[in-house]
Amino acid sequence: MARRRTPSKRPSRRRPTAGGRLALAILLLTVVAITGWVVRLFLSPTPAGPPTTSPAIQRPQPPRSPVLPATPLQPSFRQPIHPAPEVPPSPPAPLRPQADIPPPPPPRPHGPGQLVLIIDDLGQELLPAATLTQLGLPIVFSILPYAPKAAATAQLAQQAGHEILVHLPCEPKQEGRRVSAGRGALMAGMDAKHIEALLDAAFARVPGAIGANNHMGSRFTEDPAGVLAMMQALQARGKLFIDSVTTPKTALPAVCRQLNIPYLRRTVFLDNVPSTAAVLGQLQKAEALAQKHGVAIAIGHPHAATLRALAIWARERSGSVSVVSLAQARQLLLARSPEATALSVP
Ligand SMILES: [Zn+2]
Repeated sequence: MARRRTPSKRPSRRRPTAGGRLALAILLLTVVAITGWVVRLFLSPTPAGPPTTSPAIQRPQPPRSPVLPATPLQPSFRQPIHPAPEVPPSPPAPLRPQADIPPPPPPRPHGPGQLVLIIDDLGQELLPAATLTQLGLPIVFSILPYAPKAAATAQLAQQAGHEILVHLPCEPKQEGRRVSAGRGALMAGMDAKHIEALLDAAFARVPGAIGANNHMGSRFTEDPAGVLAMMQALQARGKLFIDSVTTPKTALPAVCRQLNIPYLRRTVFLDNVPSTAAVLGQLQKAEALAQKHGVAIAIGHPHAATLRALAIWARERSGSVSVVSLAQARQLLLARSPEATALSVP
């Protein structure tokens, strides 16, 4: 008699029931979800924002160095080029000078040289002034306030777009012969009220003048009190002053330092020797000084040789300097550090 083998009724000891498997799966999913949320909460820089792979995210930029240029540094041919370390593509590393690369030179305070050309002693007759307007150069017209054609010269200059100065008569030293700066001259020892009145009268006769320079004045400009009174009065009226430097003992540099204003001075006289060749030589000297110092101020006079030389130079000059207005030159000086505001004597 064969015994029929019945299937075992023993329950499985290791395998959970279907209900148990479902509960286990739900528990596992819950744990994974909570862990993921916690990790996201603590590690993500923008937990509530859009996905961090978005290219539109603005990262805070490092402060820009006042010394380093905004553009990437170009290796100089004189500097050894070190192999660049591997740099991760993002985020951009802040620009920091590395120990083995010398810092770049400070930015040049000026570009190519700027030359100011002033012609003094204008106003006696109109022809030289008319010639100057035809040269195609922004020449500054310095007009003697009591000259017969002062107002007409100022009008001509204004119409042609030239800057105008009062060529201010100032007391010279009398070196053995009678020399006078003429009517309305500022004298050493004058009080401030007198100086102010003379300034106002002179400016009234030269319409459109932006400032003044001294005609003669080797004695007056050595008088610190007079120079201080003159500069304070000009400053109060928004006018500038160019020292013609008719004496090496001029008080103007010290007074400008005291008032904390740029000291503008003549660098070169163009026509102490009034020949065309000599004036052309002085123009070349002025160009060289403008390139060396950034700005140079050349002063000439309405001599025939000076006008001829300027016409030749205007046609044939090398272009190594720009002829600029006093306003432009002053801006450049103001942009420099205070100790560099004085133009040095060649
Ligand atoms: Zn003069």
